[in-house]
Amino acid sequence: MEGKSTGLGPPEKMGRGPQCPLMPTTRDYYDILNVPNGASVDEIKRAYRRLAMKNHPDRNPGDVEAETRFKECAEAYEVLSDSERRAIYDRYGHAGLRSTPGHDFSSMHAEDIFSMFEDIFGGALGGRSRRRRGGVPRGYDLETEVEVTLEEVLGGTSRLVEFKRLDVCRTCSGEGAKPGTSRVACSGCGGSGQVAQTGFGGMFRMVTACRPCGGRGTVIAEKCPDCRGHGRVSIQRKLDVKIPAGIHDGQAVRVVGEGEPPLPELSSGGQGIRGDLHVLVRVRDHDRFERDGDHLLMAVPVAFTQAALGAEIEIPTLDGTVTLTIPPGTQHGALFRIQNKGVPGLRSGRRGDLVVVTQVVVPRKLTDSQKKLLRDYARTESLEVVATDPSLWNKIKDAMVGS
Ligand SMILES: [Zn+2]
Ligand SMILES: [Zn+2]
Repeated sequence: MEGKSTGLGPPEKMGRGPQCPLMPTTRDYYDILNVPNGASVDEIKRAYRRLAMKNHPDRNPGDVEAETRFKECAEAYEVLSDSERRAIYDRYGHAGLRSTPGHDFSSMHAEDIFSMFEDIFGGALGGRSRRRRGGVPRGYDLETEVEVTLEEVLGGTSRLVEFKRLDVCRTCSGEGAKPGTSRVACSGCGGSGQVAQTGFGGMFRMVTACRPCGGRGTVIAEKCPDCRGHGRVSIQRKLDVKIPAGIHDGQAVRVVGEGEPPLPELSSGGQGIRGDLHVLVRVRDHDRFERDGDHLLMAVPVAFTQAALGAEIEIPTLDGTVTLTIPPGTQHGALFRIQNKGVPGLRSGRRGDLVVVTQVVVPRKLTDSQKKLLRDYARTESLEVVATDPSLWNKIKDAMVGS
């Protein structure tokens, strides 16, 4: 399977994704929201609002733990705010919910989670709704994470990503009704979808959407057995995603249309715009190269004789070795630029440079003949060198102990 089209998200927008495996929580939902088991719907709502505001990624940039808590809270709230799912959870715990459709918050975008429950935030933090764009319903975006090596950044690569998403139930085409049964007129509103409420002792009438049928005027007579009337089921999806050459740590590849279909309240059949899948790319640190934009940096040990006399040294690069000529008298920390041996620019495709930093290595052990040669050399420089053992350090220690 191949994604329809891909695009790149700006790295600064993505932030650092959770480092934990993308899995629903196993913690107790009441503990997560810090409410007693018998908490009222209002208590749960208040607790969630407070914790979600506190742990929102916009208020805690770069804080992975806060983001994980934010997503955990959303998961707990989604279950505990739904009387049906809460009853299942109270009886059977997490295991009981496995077969019921729920969002995989760990792979969702924080801003989508926020807009999902935006009615309880009342526009706080500017959580913008992704539900509609130009009147067309739009589904939620999902997020997943992959890790690549610097070698893969050089040539580009691909990853098979697996993620869970809610999709339109095929059994009932998203309607939520058991196949063969049809929707029946809602008894709450008599089929009009609207209810009139009289306020202030009959002084005015207010018309609102009927709650039991969500304003549709009809309700499901018999629930679809596969989605329990939700119209959505949780599916596991696998996709081969192309990671372009030159990608940077923290950037995301966007796979258009691989997110969730619009919510059943907005479009039961899922018509409208699907959300996108954002594949957050982490570039693993390399044991030899340090990356600086499209340039690479590396330290190369050079013998002090090579540094003094000049030498040709073999430099391992990301693709093959090159020969570098260092001139006589090269100092420790000298920089040499090898052009076009960095990584390619994401958009230009032009490779950066490999910058080599010399590290002059002083030999730790010398043979007797080497020592003699060096002493003879030192004499030509008229330098004072340690004549014999004990070493200078031993002399210092002797001086301190012997007094
Ligand atoms: Zn169904
Ligand atoms: Zn109704």
